[in-house]
Amino acid sequence: MKVTTIGIDLGTTFSCVAAIDEHGKPIVLKNDDGNPITPSVVAFEQDGNVIVGDEAKNIQSLGDANVASFFKREMGNPDFYLTFHGRQHSPTDLSAYVLAKLKADAEKVLGKSVAKAVITCPAYFSAIQREEVKNAGKLAGLDVLRVINEPTAAAVAFGIKSEKEQTLLVYDLGGGTFDVTLMKITADEIAVLATDGNHQLGGKDWDDTLRDYAVGKFQEEFAANPLEDSATANDLLVAAENVKKALSQKITTNFVIAYNGNKGRYEITREQFEDATKHLINQTLTLCESVLAAKQMDWKHIDGILLVGGSTRMPQVESELKKHTDKPILHGINVDEAVAIGAAIQADLDANEKHYTLETKQSSGKSGYTLEGRRTIKDVTGQSLGMIAENTDRSQYINTIIIPRNTNIPSCEVRPFQLRTSSRQDNEIEVYVTQGEGIIPSGCAILGKYVISGITHEKNNAVCDIEYHYDKSGTVEVCAKQRSTGKNLTVRRDEPGDMSWTDLCPKDRDPEPELIIEPVTVLIAIDTSGSMSGQAFILAQKAAKDFLSQMDLSHCSVGIIRAPHGPKSKVILPPSQNATEIVKAIDSLTDTWEGEPLFEVIKNELADIDGQRFAVILTDGQWGSEETMIRQANECHAADIQIASLGFGSVNEPFLQAIANWDMIMTSPERFSESFSKIAQVITEGKTELQRRS
Ligand code: AMP
Repeated sequence: MKVTTIGIDLGTTFSCVAAIDEHGKPIVLKNDDGNPITPSVVAFEQDGNVIVGDEAKNIQSLGDANVASFFKREMGNPDFYLTFHGRQHSPTDLSAYVLAKLKADAEKVLGKSVAKAVITCPAYFSAIQREEVKNAGKLAGLDVLRVINEPTAAAVAFGIKSEKEQTLLVYDLGGGTFDVTLMKITADEIAVLATDGNHQLGGKDWDDTLRDYAVGKFQEEFAANPLEDSATANDLLVAAENVKKALSQKITTNFVIAYNGNKGRYEITREQFEDATKHLINQTLTLCESVLAAKQMDWKHIDGILLVGGSTRMPQVESELKKHTDKPILHGINVDEAVAIGAAIQADLDANEKHYTLETKQSSGKSGYTLEGRRTIKDVTGQSLGMIAENTDRSQYINTIIIPRNTNIPSCEVRPFQLRTSSRQDNEIEVYVTQGEGIIPSGCAILGKYVISGITHEKNNAVCDIEYHYDKSGTVEVCAKQRSTGKNLTVRRDEPGDMSWTDLCPKDRDPEPELIIEPVTVLIAIDTSGSMSGQAFILAQKAAKDFLSQMDLSHCSVGIIRAPHGPKSKVILPPSQNATEIVKAIDSLTDTWEGEPLFEVIKNELADIDGQRFAVILTDGQWGSEETMIRQANECHAADIQIASLGFGSVNEPFLQAIANWDMIMTSPERFSESFSKIAQVITEGKTELQRRS
């Protein structure tokens, strides 16, 4: 067999390996014990011998304490170590033992050495956790081609067999995690639209609930708590898992608890179990709906639900989903094997960069699905990438998002960073890169402190363009260039250390920073009147987004105003440093005429804001009430608000110049982005290409 690449599902509870055989058919490779799945359990013997898989799980069930399991939940946690026989092991080390066993067993089946692998991880895994998966692979002697999301892999395994175009929801409930992923399968691609997950929700929570339920009955009967003894508590967890699994087959079973000479035997029905764990199923349904909402969809847009993960064997999963959604539940993949099979397909595509034909005999006897032309697999990032910034009045540290979640990966965003430099010292920028959604930094994962050095002193503000990359595995890289010199800057990633300073007020922490940049607030007012409809309006929205990507949101806020001509304008979004929120506001602009005169709106919105204040107005057509408008615009000028105007079409040029205190720019839809960029540069670099007039 010519296989040298494998796909690995590195699971919390079980792992699985697959490969594509010489006929192009994905096959699951059995382990040394003849099982298609291998427990992700590692046992350490006194003599230094390490045992992985079924045997380790057996040792664990005998009560040996030198056994590690469930360590995947701690992957990437620098403070988590398990100590056995005096040696510390990180979750990465423990995962490497599992991977090494999977590799060795695969090599036995295949009869040759395996060098390359695609390894899966939960969609919510952070960039650091993904790096640790790669590191574990390396430690196990594997060249990790990429790390892919488990639900994506499962959907790939399903999707390549699907002839139909369809939108699927992948419901992946494993032992320790829950992932929900929206997928679109078309003739030429399998694309992830959105994903979300809860890594503290999985089969283990059902086990815990069931154990507590039975223990409650024991306490009622014997007034003693078996959970006080850790060995008994552990045994009861194993028993609970067995009872749970039994209830997937039959509608009633017994839970036996023996403790301190007392023995309780409790009949538990499937109905009781389902009632006791209903809150857990409900949590999964809520998350499904929030993913749909993220794409402005609901259940009616879904063609079917694909079940993945061992815990979807619980009958309540299917029945609750059916009851709640009335959508077909798709079977046709083996929940234990689908993730590894999807990974093997991706590994084969990556390693061979060729098309291949998948010949598979279905039980129905049909055969011959082809992968030709259906080979593009598109994934998204499950978490937003951001950085810690000060808000514009320096009262709070905030997380500003640079690459929003559910963006296709690989992906790259460039953000300028302005700074004052000194000729007397080395000039450095420290950027704390985050992953997470909230505005509060402590609610996000800190990927690292990136120190950018080698910045040349400049008289005006220096601008460094910082590139944030998500690669195809969802890991992160940061590069930087100084704009004026075009020189690549040195970037070093340091451990972030104690981050409690993010709870402080920036002003108190650093009352008079020497090199502080004055905050900037920009309001973008876009004419939404009928004459702007169609292509011009789409290009205006794109230009506003391009403008946004050129602003340093670490000290700049952008607000959005709907301005159908001038008289009836409305703030759609007050100044914000959250790129996702701003993009959403730009997308939500409509041709609605309600509100106040534009310059009143601008003046009021910027009234209590410190620092430099700008309004950028894009319009075509004639406004009417021009004299009043000019008078109100002059009031803004007098209040030191800088107004730039961009016009096109049948706009009244002298009027447009009169409302601005910058040179007016005449443009065209094709040049909107370029014109907005010019303004962005003037704002960020303090360029004087456009003359301020008053
Ligand atoms: P995974 O992480 O996908 O391997 O899923 C493992 C989880 O599936 C564990 O919590 C198992 O207890 C659970 N599981 C496996 N088989 C069954 C079953 N027949 N009924 C209920 N849960 C199961």
